[in-house]
Amino acid sequence: MLQSEFAFIDGLRARAARETRQNAELRHGIGDDAAVLRAAANCETLITVDLLVEDVDFKLEYTPPRWLGHKALAVSLSDIAAMGGRPRFSLLSLGIPRACGTGFWEEFFDGYFALAAEHGVTLIGGDTSSAPGGLAIDSIQLGECRQGAAVLRSGAKAGDEIYITGSIGASAAGLRLLLGGKRVRESEDDLTQQALRKHLRPEARVEFGWRIGEEQLAHAMIDVSDGLARDLAHICAESGVSAEIDASSVPISPEVSLVETDAEKAFELAVRGGEDFELLFTATGAKAKELVKIAGETGVVVTRIGEVIERSDSALRLRRDGKSIPFASRGFDHFAG
Ligand code: ADP
Ligand code: MG
Repeated sequence: MLQSEFAFIDGLRARAARETRQNAELRHGIGDDAAVLRAAANCETLITVDLLVEDVDFKLEYTPPRWLGHKALAVSLSDIAAMGGRPRFSLLSLGIPRACGTGFWEEFFDGYFALAAEHGVTLIGGDTSSAPGGLAIDSIQLGECRQGAAVLRSGAKAGDEIYITGSIGASAAGLRLLLGGKRVRESEDDLTQQALRKHLRPEARVEFGWRIGEEQLAHAMIDVSDGLARDLAHICAESGVSAEIDASSVPISPEVSLVETDAEKAFELAVRGGEDFELLFTATGAKAKELVKIAGETGVVVTRIGEVIERSDSALRLRRDGKSIPFASRGFDHFAG
């Protein structure tokens, strides 16, 4: 059970003031009816929101509160990164059940503010209510980019190379392990624990996404939240193109081997499992050198996984053993039973 709503907000306000740095665009944060921001010259504002619902998007039973606080912010940072922008301000609306008391929120905000500080993000407001049906977290993020520099899903062109950061499948493997009864042990760091962490405490490619936007290196970009196949199909639909994935070059996370030993099943889990929060983007081959440079500077591995092609009846094709065949774009879907 929590102290009063007002004590909760006062505590949060004090913590936000303490743990986030001042910045020129913020005229007034938490404490009034609305926050007041001054728009930076020659910049555009990016706004995104993510809703996390208990027992749908996470389970308290196996989620350390600190990691949930981290994830609530990370998923929104990932959306800003996928636009090629830089995150600036965050708002949090919380629907709080009785089971989440003061200790829970201390830990939740340890995770939240640690990530916020890492990326210079300031908490400027939110809303708080009770939620008898379970915890709900609505994470709103404001970011910025230079005028006209936002990287949309709609800019992919036939002939572009398709790239992805990091590797995919670890989060889906982690979820499967959790559902099978594996639990977090923070003192251990084997492959199983790494899989659980990738699912429960994902890292967003904040700096890489922003640099890609700043230097205008990508034609289209998206973060992989619904699975590589589904998210690549989103780019294709918005851009009016198709994509051919080169099966052998897809970087599958080593964690996938914990839950799938069959190579075909491992590939399917990797390309259809969601919540990797890697960045998937298209760019002309001519930019490859600059991409490698930014990847090196931001400590990110980038892999070319295919090519954008003229639109055909299948959004996705898969190239394997010299043959190209239609490939379903199925992925994660909240309403799919
Ligand atoms: P209102 O009645 O206008 O919604 P509140 O009393 O709910 O105002 O909120 C007071 C201040 O605290 C506002 O500035 C609001 O943005 C902030 N606030 C409330 N809940 C949260 C939260 N969960 N996270 C961050 N700021 C919050
Ligand atoms: Mg309110």
